[in-house]
Amino acid sequence: MSKEEIFWCKTCLNMSTRNRIEFDENGRCNACVWSEEKKSLDWKKREKEFLGLVKEAKSKNSGPYDIIVPVSGGKDGSYVSYTMKNKYNLNVLCVTINPPTRSEIGFNNLENFKKKSGFPLIEINVPNQISKKLNKKGFIEQGRPLYGWTTSIFTSVMRVAKYFGINLIMYGEDGEIEYGGSTESKYKAAFNAEFIKRVYLEGKTSQTFDDLSDVDKYWWDFDFADLSNIKLAHWSYFENWDSYRNYIVAKENYGLTEKNDANTGTYTNFAQNDNFLYDLHTYLMYLKFGFGRGTQDVGIDIRRGALSRDQGKQLAEMYDNHFPENYLHFYLEYYEMKKSEFMDVLDFHVSKELFKKEGEIWMPTFKIV
Ligand SMILES: [Zn+2]
Repeated sequence: MSKEEIFWCKTCLNMSTRNRIEFDENGRCNACVWSEEKKSLDWKKREKEFLGLVKEAKSKNSGPYDIIVPVSGGKDGSYVSYTMKNKYNLNVLCVTINPPTRSEIGFNNLENFKKKSGFPLIEINVPNQISKKLNKKGFIEQGRPLYGWTTSIFTSVMRVAKYFGINLIMYGEDGEIEYGGSTESKYKAAFNAEFIKRVYLEGKTSQTFDDLSDVDKYWWDFDFADLSNIKLAHWSYFENWDSYRNYIVAKENYGLTEKNDANTGTYTNFAQNDNFLYDLHTYLMYLKFGFGRGTQDVGIDIRRGALSRDQGKQLAEMYDNHFPENYLHFYLEYYEMKKSEFMDVLDFHVSKELFKKEGEIWMPTFKIV
C-alpha cells in the first residue's frame, strides 16, 4: 500500500494498513461498526447459543469439567473464568501457558489468581529452547516476536482439552471483531483449528513448524488427534466485551494489580502488562503498519466514549513511537543476538513507505488525519 492510499477510520484511529480490516461506505472500520451494532444486538439469543454449546460439550465430555478457560492472571481470563463459574455455575478448568518472559507484576497476578479464584489451574511450561527458537524465527522472518507462544496458546490448550476430555474452550475477546480485522467470525459462535491457522497465524504454520521433530513439535501440533469435537469460542461473542469492566471484576475478586506507571508505548497500565516481549510486539506492529500500542488503546477508549478522536490523535502521536529501550537487554539475552543483529531485524521489517531513519530512530513520515 503506498502512502497516498493510506487512510484512518473516521471514528477511531484504525489504519487501512491493518491486516484484514474492513471499512464501510462511511469510512468507519469494522470495530467501530461493530461497537454500534452491539448496542442493539440480541444478546439473549447469543446467550442461548452459548448454553447450547455448553450442553453439547457436556454430552461429550468424559470428565467432571465442563469448560476450559485459558488464563494468564490478567483481567480478561480472570473475568471469563469468574463469569463461567458465578453466572453459569460451570466446572471450570483453567490453563495457562507460561510466557517466555514474565514481569514481576504478571507473576504476582497469577499467584493471586491461584489463591483467590479457587480454580484448578494447569500451568504449562513449553520447552524453553524450542519456544525460543520459534519466537526467534517469528521475530526474524515475520516481525512477530511471540509467534511460538501465540501458537501454543491454542495448540497446547487443545492438548489439555483432549487429555481431560473437555470439548469447550472459552477465550476472551475476538480481536478481529473487537479491534479490527476479518469479520468472518462475526456471526459464528465457535471456531476450530483450521480458522486459527489461516487467520491468526496467517497460514505460516507449515513453514514454521515443519522442520521440527515430532517430539519437539508436540506442544505446537495442530494435527495430533481428531479435534473435531472440541469447540473454541470467544466470550466477546456472547457478552458485550468491556475490558475495563473485566479489570474491575478481576481486581475486586482475584486481587489483580496494575503497574504504577504506564506501559511502554501507551498511556494505560492495566492491559498486557505481564510479558516484556509484548512491548516489542507492539513496537514492531508500529514499524510495520504505522499504528502502535497507543493507537490500539485509543481505539478502545474512543469506542467506549471515553476519548474524542482529537484527544486520541494527540495520545497516539505522543505514545506510539516508543522503542522499548528498558527491555532491550532482555531481548538481546532472550534471542541471543547482538544489538546490531537485533536492530537489523527491526530495519528489515519497518515500512519504508511510512518511516524514515533519523539517527538511530525510525520516525514516521505520515501524520494521522
Ligand atoms: Zn474505527
